[in-house]
This record gives sequence, C-alpha cells and structure tokens, in this order.
Amino acid sequence: MPADQYATLLQTMPRLWTIARNSRPTYAFDTVQSITGDFLEREGVRGVLWDVDGTIMSYHAKAIDETFGHLHALISADPDRHAVLSNCDEPRFRELGDMLPELPILRAYATPSGPVFRHTHRGRDTHSHEEIARLLQRGARQIRKPSGALVRYGMEILGLTDPQEVLMVGDQYLTDVASANLAGARSVKVRTWRRDTFPFSIRTSQRLERLLYLVMRPFQ
Ligand SMILES: [Mg+2]
Repeated sequence: MPADQYATLLQTMPRLWTIARNSRPTYAFDTVQSITGDFLEREGVRGVLWDVDGTIMSYHAKAIDETFGHLHALISADPDRHAVLSNCDEPRFRELGDMLPELPILRAYATPSGPVFRHTHRGRDTHSHEEIARLLQRGARQIRKPSGALVRYGMEILGLTDPQEVLMVGDQYLTDVASANLAGARSVKVRTWRRDTFPFSIRTSQRLERLLYLVMRPFQ
C-alpha cells in the first residue's frame, strides 16, 4: 500500500463513523465533464476545490486528462476561483505545483502548537523545504482529507466566507465528499477516472469505501 494512502487510512479509522455519516455528496456525476461554467453559475458556486488523482487525471499522471480539456478554459477564465486539495505525498505535491502553476495547491500539518497551513502557487511555496523538514522532524504530521479545516483553508485562499459557495470535487466519499460536508460546503462525487491506473491496494480500498457508503446511506 502506498505510504500516503496508509497515512490517510490511519487518520480516518478513529473517526470512521462520523466520516461515513458525512459522506453523502450534493451532486453525483460520471465525470468532471459535467462541471462547466454554466453549472457553477447556475448553482451559485464561487469557489472550487479539486481533487486530482482519479478526478481530473489518472493516477499520478502528469497533466489534466485530455478528455477534460474544457477545465483549462474554465480555470483560466477565473483562476482565483479554483484550488487543489490532494492527499498526495511531498514529491507529488511539488509535482502538482509545477504541473498546475495557475492553481494554489493546498496542504496543512498538525503540530503541537496548532495547525500550520501551506500552499504553493505560481512557483512560490509558503514554506521552504527546510521549514517543512524541520516541522516533520519535530513530530508534525500532514492533515489529510477528510478534513473540514482543509476546506476552510481553501475558502480563505479563495477569499470566501460562505461554505455553501464552495464546491469540493472528488472521486472518493470518505475523503473528498466528507471534507466538504465537515466544513458545511457542497460537493460533487465523480466516478474514479481511469481506475485501472490505480495500484491494486487503492482499488480495493475504493471498493470498500463504496460498500461502506451504501451501508451507511440510511444514517446519512
Ligand atoms: Mg482522488
């Protein structure tokens, strides 16, 4: 199992009941092709937080999938309305910063003195590699989705105060959708794009997640 997936699992387990109860999406689409400027306008969405792998590209791909070419126009029409929220590891975080320089890539760390928020945008990182290494050495750990705090940080970066104006778009109930619900934001659940590109262990956990979502439907 990839280390970032294992860490997400460890963080999720103690809160599984709460998270599973908060995993019903506002909208469910097959793919992000349904997310257009018209849709955002009609639904009163002023900010979008994007998951990456399985949502806008295949697993650890190097660019937005060409099937979703419309996203380039959507984002460049109003880049200040979009940001990325991924549970990836540090190398992938830096890679996303290089791949999608027009979008703030967000993350956060839990430290003994409170959360530390970080983003990289247009080649500038709020924290140097040395600062992050020091934080981790002192026992900080990455805050991963599901996290309402990450969505609230996204709202801050996008300059929004009403969570209902924010849409988290992702392919996973227990990370992407639950993050939105924990923050009072809205969410779009898409089917995992190019599931065949994901490692077997992740595909297995995605199947378990779907099963848990279905079992928990009456409690949501
Ligand atoms: Mg994903």
